[in-house]
Amino acid sequence: MRAEIIAVGSELLTPDRIDTNSLFLTAQLNRLGIQVVRKTIVGDEPNSLQREFRAALELADVIIASGGLGPTEDDITREALAAVLQRPLVQDDEILKDIEAKFQRFGRVMPQINVKQALVPVGAAVLPNPRGTAPGLWVEDGQRIVVLMPGPPSELEPMFIEQVVPRLEARAIGERLVERALRVSGMGESAVDQAIAPIYKGYRDVQTTLLHFTGEIHVYLRQWSTDRTAAEKTLDGIVERMRLALGESLFTTKGEEMEQVVARELTWHGATIAVAESCTGGMLGERLTRQPGSSAYFLGGVISYGNELKSDWLGVSRALIEKDGAVSAEVAQAMAEGVRRRSGATLGLAVTGIAGPTGGTEEKPVGTVHIALADAEGVQQKMFRFPGDRGRIRGQATVAALDMVRRYYLHKSALKAQ
Ligand code: ATP
Ligand code: MG
Repeated sequence: MRAEIIAVGSELLTPDRIDTNSLFLTAQLNRLGIQVVRKTIVGDEPNSLQREFRAALELADVIIASGGLGPTEDDITREALAAVLQRPLVQDDEILKDIEAKFQRFGRVMPQINVKQALVPVGAAVLPNPRGTAPGLWVEDGQRIVVLMPGPPSELEPMFIEQVVPRLEARAIGERLVERALRVSGMGESAVDQAIAPIYKGYRDVQTTLLHFTGEIHVYLRQWSTDRTAAEKTLDGIVERMRLALGESLFTTKGEEMEQVVARELTWHGATIAVAESCTGGMLGERLTRQPGSSAYFLGGVISYGNELKSDWLGVSRALIEKDGAVSAEVAQAMAEGVRRRSGATLGLAVTGIAGPTGGTEEKPVGTVHIALADAEGVQQKMFRFPGDRGRIRGQATVAALDMVRRYYLHKSALKAQ
């Protein structure tokens, strides 16, 4: 089956809002074996939307439209589809009662304009929306299916999973998408490609995509197949070969976030961590607290941007800062040891660097970052030269710091195994 996604909303044609619904919908549809063959963004203009619905009905078996189901003048999706399919809109009293009840619950009277949200094209099935006012609609036209969904992701996503997926599952037969998501840190995109190209080039049926993110390269392996078991086996074989080719730079084969991997290691070792951040200004603490339950291993940190704080709060000697500069291996190490000592954590992790755009020197250009990790036995330090602007340098430093913790445990386990 082939699908088209239509994102409706003039705001999506401005620089202020991006259509993210179609990314979510594509992932969900792919999982059902439905390929997305076109995505469109249309403004709140009846003729344009009708034209797009007509074109989509020519092209796709399944059309998913999001947005424009609200009560205001510019919400026109339901009307546009009814016009294209030449189906009259009729008022559904049950929907109307439901909307009125929702307003009552908040002690308000339903404005008259909301009556429009209770209009349903003849023959359509209503998809209830407990998280908002506008219900979704499932409309069949011969063999084709058109689904209208509310725009807000918080309403669209659960509605799609709870009500559209089961309906589509009953229809979608044939090919399924099997995929693997590998993530690599500490290697550039071309180095990753060089390592794995000889592997993936041998598999014509497997679609391989490399994507660059701050501090990480993501590799997606995707195969459409009617034989799921065979496809799983093929992909697992490729993953194993890539694991050997990428070595310890590969940090997940299941699309996990770096902080998830780090959290698992810390939890497994019953360890705690505290951070001392200069150039990342709290980004490291933010990443380490993204996981629910992070208080089990993350004790906290110091954003020691100024040199006084490095000395007063972390115990870095003023003479050392004076001698080597705040961005130096020695200061990074002293910060890591200092935050570990003061917090009582198993590990102390520190970052100091020059994020730019100013402050660089010939000896220490913008992008120079020192990262240090202290444990009870000592402290390790690494210097990086990150490319890019201030945002990218800080982002890469954050990932590299987390990666240092991950590699620390990798080596620890390797030593134990010896
Ligand atoms: P409402 O009843 O809230 O008006 P609606 O179905 O009419 O819902 P829209 O008015 O089109 O939906 O969009 C409401 C909000 O949902 C938008 O301001 C936007 O923040 C978000 N939204 C809409 N479409 C998308 C999209 N394709 N991707 C991400 N967010 C979207
Ligand atoms: Mg709206």
